[in-house]
Formats: sequence, structure tokens, C-alpha cells
Amino acid sequence: MISLNEGVVERRALVLIKSMTKTKICQNCHKKFTIEPEDFEFYKKIEVPEPTFCPECRAQRRFAFCNLMELYKRKCDFSNKDIISIYRSDSPFKIYHSKIWWSDKWDPMDYGRNYDFKQPFLEQFKRLMLDVPRPHNFNLGSVNCDYCAGVYNCKNCYMCVGNRSEDCLYSFVGLSRNCLDSFLP
Ligand SMILES: [Zn+2]
Repeated sequence: MISLNEGVVERRALVLIKSMTKTKICQNCHKKFTIEPEDFEFYKKIEVPEPTFCPECRAQRRFAFCNLMELYKRKCDFSNKDIISIYRSDSPFKIYHSKIWWSDKWDPMDYGRNYDFKQPFLEQFKRLMLDVPRPHNFNLGSVNCDYCAGVYNCKNCYMCVGNRSEDCLYSFVGLSRNCLDSFLP
């Protein structure tokens, strides 16, 4: 019977894991990045191809589309009242305070339009995005959380992203209380 000591088994396991990782060149910044075996399992599970951008460039694209990190003073384009928003005052988008955005004070159906097959899709999509109002942030069901970009059912939070938390500061939290400078995904 052949027996291997623990060191040999560990080294062979490491070689095996390393052989399953893949190094790619980012199409955007041209730096190397690796895809780990568990990443491949995840891509398979959600049925998407492996990424062509590195994690940093992917994060840049996400943040360019949806800001959850910065807050700005600006006016609500419906009421003209001062608000704290994830959109700057010079943003090209039409921004309504979320209480108005979720209300019946305006009708989203007013912005419906036919698709023109003779025009490029992205041009029409851009016009639609610029035309249709957006909520000033993503704070749903929260109380006293005006300085948060994306909190759900939270209370007395400041500069947080998360859900059902209370009395938290500068944190990425969920189901938490009295936390400070925390990252609890
Ligand atoms: Zn990159």
C-alpha cells in the first residue's frame, strides 16, 4: 500500500488547483487577471461566458452604470426641492425624489413609444434613458437614511449600503445594528 505524507498531498493539491486557474489578458486595460476554479463553477451555474475584462475594469463598468458610492446635493426635477442624490446636479438624467418617483404623481406610460426598426437600437435606448425620470436614490422603506445611496428598510444609517439595519455608519451591512466602518456582505 502506497502512503503519501501530508506535505506531498498538500503540494499535489496546490498543483491541481493551480492547473485549474486560467490567466487571461483584459481586453480593456491589457493587464493579466486570473479566473479561479470556483469562478468557473459560478459562470456555469448562471450560464454566462467567462469574463474578458479584469475585475477592476468590470467594477468600473458597474459603477459607471449605477453609482452607490457618492452623494450630491441637487434639485428634484419634479418638485424643485433640494435633495441628496446619487446623481450630480449636472447629470443629463431627469431625477425625481424617490417618494415622488414611486407615487402616482406622474405616469410612466407617458414615456411609452414605438420602436423604430430603421434607427439604431442604442440611439433610441439613449433617448429613452434621458427622457424617463429616475429615482434620486435606492432607499426603499428606510427612515432617517437620507445620506445613504442604497438601503432597504433601514433606520438611522449614514453612508451605508444594505438592508434591515439600524444605527450604522460607513458600512456595507445587512441585518445589523450599531456597526461602524463594516463590510458584511
Ligand atoms: Zn482591465
